[in-house]
Amino acid sequence: QDTINKIAAGEVVERPSSVVKELVENSIDAGATAVSVTIAGGGTTQIRVTDNGTGFDRDDLDIAFQKNTTSKIRCAEDLMSVQSLGFRGEALSSIAAVSKLELITKTKNELIGTRYIIHGGVKQEEQEVGCPDGTTFVVNDLFYNTPVRRKFLKSAMTEAGYVNDVMERIALSNPNVSIKFTNNGKLIINTSGNGKLSDVVYGIYGREIAAELCEVNKTAGELSIHGLIAKPVIARGNRNFENYFLNGRYIKNPLISKAIEEAYRGYMMQNKYPFTALMLHIPNEMFDVNVHPAKLEVRFVEENKIFKAVYHAIKNALLGNDLVAESSADEKPLERENVPVSNTPIKKGLFEIFRGGKADKAVEENIKEENNLRKLQN
Ligand code: ADP
Ligand code: MG
Repeated sequence: QDTINKIAAGEVVERPSSVVKELVENSIDAGATAVSVTIAGGGTTQIRVTDNGTGFDRDDLDIAFQKNTTSKIRCAEDLMSVQSLGFRGEALSSIAAVSKLELITKTKNELIGTRYIIHGGVKQEEQEVGCPDGTTFVVNDLFYNTPVRRKFLKSAMTEAGYVNDVMERIALSNPNVSIKFTNNGKLIINTSGNGKLSDVVYGIYGREIAAELCEVNKTAGELSIHGLIAKPVIARGNRNFENYFLNGRYIKNPLISKAIEEAYRGYMMQNKYPFTALMLHIPNEMFDVNVHPAKLEVRFVEENKIFKAVYHAIKNALLGNDLVAESSADEKPLERENVPVSNTPIKKGLFEIFRGGKADKAVEENIKEENNLRKLQN
């Protein structure tokens, strides 16, 4: 049984960033309006996730850590209408199986909270504690009992970078949730949760991109696409800044990427890719919802319809805007009320280079590496 549990856990929890993704998605499913994530040692030493969501009922705790237990669906039919980010009930049992986990939680109906400790899937302790409404997970010593898995992890800095990617996507897809990410004591992401996507983009990517955004807003039947894209002047050498979310879930999909790039064709040099933060809302029956939540793939029923909708949404947004680059970003002051506090928007540098037109791939990679280092240095 112990071996089976560890194998199962490996499918959900590949690295620290997978733990962070699962826990923060749970927080959002629990209705949190603020989620704070702190990691140390790239997340292998410790991951701490605190939310102000519903909390766990004391009676549910033992059940929640069992395999395939979820409060989000009751029967197979519910799969067609599930709105939550999770529903397979795999995360908590998996994370608990390969770490030393501590949980502190309280619902608003209870006067006193609960502290629950579980190591390698085995419950150690449960006691009453005073604590605020909501939930805190502390995951210590990830993979302490699966040394082979641990060996496959990259350096703490690289793993922290993956966690950062996850946090950025979560912040982009949840502008109405205040998201905080702290690595080794340094605040990396801090969004206000004021619901403005442009503020999140400013906080994460900086002024350079925030000053060149176009709004996307399209409804085609039961399909809707909204969000922000950057004008073609913001271009980069790979697809890393093509962000799109399907019903709140970050996905990667060749069809959608192709639709985006086709819409930009003619505005952008070859082998350059745009910045997008697109929210697609599509009824569940139009794609396969039963894909693995830890994977980013998705299958659409009517690919052509999706392609056209994305293509036209972007094309229209681009056509409706003056695409000539400003000679200097400073001439166009940003609306900056309530801009989330973030540390130096390090990604900015990348785009200034393209503006000058002299970036090659090596330069870009160098800058990226340098920025990552700077960002993650203690
Ligand atoms: P799933 O998210 O697929 O339901 P999980 O294993 O991630 O499965 O979580 C199991 C259950 O634990 C959830 O269905 C939910 O009821 C509860 N839960 C998990 N995280 C939280 C949280 N942060 N706040 C409140 N309840 C939570
Ligand atoms: Mg979950």
